[in-house]
Amino acid sequence: MKTLGLIGGMSWESTVSYYKALNQGINQRLGGLHSAKVLLSSVDFYEIERLQHKEQWDDAADLLLKEAKALENAGAQGLVICTNTMHKVADYVSSNISIPLIHIVDATAEALQKSNIDNVALLGTKFTMEQPFYSNRLHTQFGIKVVIPTQDQRDMIHSVIYNQLCKGMICKDSRKQYIEVINALHEQGAQGVILGCTEIALLIKQEHTNVPVFDTTAIHAEKAVTFMLDG
Ligand code: GLU
Repeated sequence: MKTLGLIGGMSWESTVSYYKALNQGINQRLGGLHSAKVLLSSVDFYEIERLQHKEQWDDAADLLLKEAKALENAGAQGLVICTNTMHKVADYVSSNISIPLIHIVDATAEALQKSNIDNVALLGTKFTMEQPFYSNRLHTQFGIKVVIPTQDQRDMIHSVIYNQLCKGMICKDSRKQYIEVINALHEQGAQGVILGCTEIALLIKQEHTNVPVFDTTAIHAEKAVTFMLDG
């Protein structure tokens, strides 16, 4: 088994989900008492969130690169950045390290393609929904068309992520609002919905909607398990 390096803490609520999914994934494949060989570098999300909202992406990129290099030096053989939003700087990080980075968009695109979905709704932070780094990669590299919520809906989704989910708060009213957005985008033609923020799966599960959901945390972790054992 390869040793996986994780940059987590963005937020730590979803890093817990990654850690559990990786260990469960390895154990399902190997059985017995097998568990995932993982090195975790968990950042202070306060610093990251401030850099994001001040649009200081170069500083955020350097901060993550420092963590990535530390993980590589400690023996990690592959890297996972445990958040969708910070994949904005993933190409910069991966081009400055020697170990492979397992990209969350590529893992998600593969899952969508397996389900024959080429028109999908994207929920995430405003950075993920509004900036091109996520949608463009899905479209140009995988031919998948992305639809996003309205401005008001995006504001609500973003606020719930930072003010509730990243603090471990799961509110029924927020779930209802998210489901309304998912249904509206489905009516506009989206065949499925990407839970494109690693905390959203804490709020929305497949049982809450008939629209196929793509949980990026689970998909990313599953891709990492395959890398650790086969790749
Ligand atoms: N974990 C979230 C994501 O997947 C949001 C937190 C962050 O901005 O990194 O985008």
